[in-house]
Amino acid sequence: MISSQIQLASYLFASILFILSLGGLSSQESAKRGVLYGIIGMGIAILSTVLGPKVEGHIYIIIAILIASVIGIMLARKVEMTSMPQLVAILHSFVGLAAVLVGYGSYFDPHTQELTGVMHTIHLVEIFIGVFIGAITFTGSVVAWGKLDGKIRSKPLVYFGRHVVNIVLVLICIYLCVLFVGANELSGLMYLNLMTAIACFIGVMLVMAIGGADMPVVVSMLNSYSGWAAAAAGFMLGNDLLIVTGALVGSSGAILSIIMCEAMNRSFWSVIFGGFGAAPKGEAMAVTGEVKATDHEGVANLLKEAKSVVIVPGYGMAVAKAQFPVYAMVEDLRSQGKEVRFGIHPVAGRLPGHMNVLLAEANVPYDVVLEMDEINDDLPETDVVLVIGANDIVNPGAQDDPNSPIYGMPVLEVWNAKDVIVMKRSMATGYAGVQNPLFFKENTSMLYGDAKDSVQKINAFLN
Ligand code: NDP
Repeated sequence: MISSQIQLASYLFASILFILSLGGLSSQESAKRGVLYGIIGMGIAILSTVLGPKVEGHIYIIIAILIASVIGIMLARKVEMTSMPQLVAILHSFVGLAAVLVGYGSYFDPHTQELTGVMHTIHLVEIFIGVFIGAITFTGSVVAWGKLDGKIRSKPLVYFGRHVVNIVLVLICIYLCVLFVGANELSGLMYLNLMTAIACFIGVMLVMAIGGADMPVVVSMLNSYSGWAAAAAGFMLGNDLLIVTGALVGSSGAILSIIMCEAMNRSFWSVIFGGFGAAPKGEAMAVTGEVKATDHEGVANLLKEAKSVVIVPGYGMAVAKAQFPVYAMVEDLRSQGKEVRFGIHPVAGRLPGHMNVLLAEANVPYDVVLEMDEINDDLPETDVVLVIGANDIVNPGAQDDPNSPIYGMPVLEVWNAKDVIVMKRSMATGYAGVQNPLFFKENTSMLYGDAKDSVQKINAFLN
């Protein structure tokens, strides 16, 4: 067992490792190192908490940690890269649930009842806020998991006056907090239960009101909420490390949300209060033009003649696990002196940075992987754009059709290139469920089939 001084020193060390970890995650080159710092920091944090003073029943805690670790390792090993967003969402829900349980545990803790005066009031407010944020995070994350997993339809559930209802519910919770602080233990529990039920409902309604293509912002927002829930739990338990860690996750999640909002051209405040990305009022613009299909040999010939090629990967590349043959194709084309680059949309795939992770996995050099803003101006001078399993992120309707649910979202303007090849299995819509006029443009040809299979066949013709 360790003394409180050693525990404090370990917490400080773990906090530094968490900050270094976040710093490492800011670039692809240092990301692995960042993850390692995070793992070591978390290991130190858990050990110094479990072995610290005031902790009893070590054997139960160790058994619980072992069981949870086995479940965690099994789940993480089994989960497909395409299901990672759902895993992240459900993990956020656990943080929320943990904050609720810590809040209740703290309320029943005899030490809480022994506190008097202002200390008692402050502690009760901490419990109330912690449970409130935790409950919203819990149910909001469960709904986000359902939407990402296709178990709940991604269409926004909007009803007239929902903002007023949400504000009234928050005001009721504030009033309940006042009653809670002044109540005895039994009626206090009733107010706490009531607020928990309301907060659970708010969490569901906030995320249900958010439309398909806007889910990325919700995922990063819930990430931020889970951080604040952990920080609130830290205040309840008087645990400095939990406060620091929660604040780091909360603020970095909020910064990521702001970046994602800018990428989606949405207002940050409307995300916090939910209900943006609501269904448009009018009919979507009619799509004109004809769809042309091409074959693998045709694409290979086009690539042989091209001087500059831009590859736009999307969710379908992740599903097909096509990144490896794509990299082989890139190497081949580059060895022939062609300029080949990737254009990455900030919300491509189902997780922030999803495409970057896949490309890094296939060892694609970072200097050919460009952000949407860096590549859009070069597209008119590009000979061929290969859209591999992407859909919403290359939809011109986001610019031209005010009635499109994704109107206003910046997109990769691939239609400005000389030729566009879209590789996907059918004419099916993407995550936002909207038709894509790109497929009907004169300079677009569809190459139907699984992306990995298609790229492998093109590679065979290129050699
Ligand atoms: P989309 O979901 O818009 O489109 C993916 C396309 O891939 C589909 O139309 C599908 O067409 C095709 N596809 C699926 N499987 C395969 C396969 N095996 N081979 C070839 N093609 C395949 O993805 P985008 O990346 O373009 O856009 C991302 C969307 O997800 C945006 O709407 C974004 O807002 C949303 N989102 C993003 C998150 C993030 O953080 N990045 C989080 C949550 C949502 P077909 O079935 O015909 O093959």
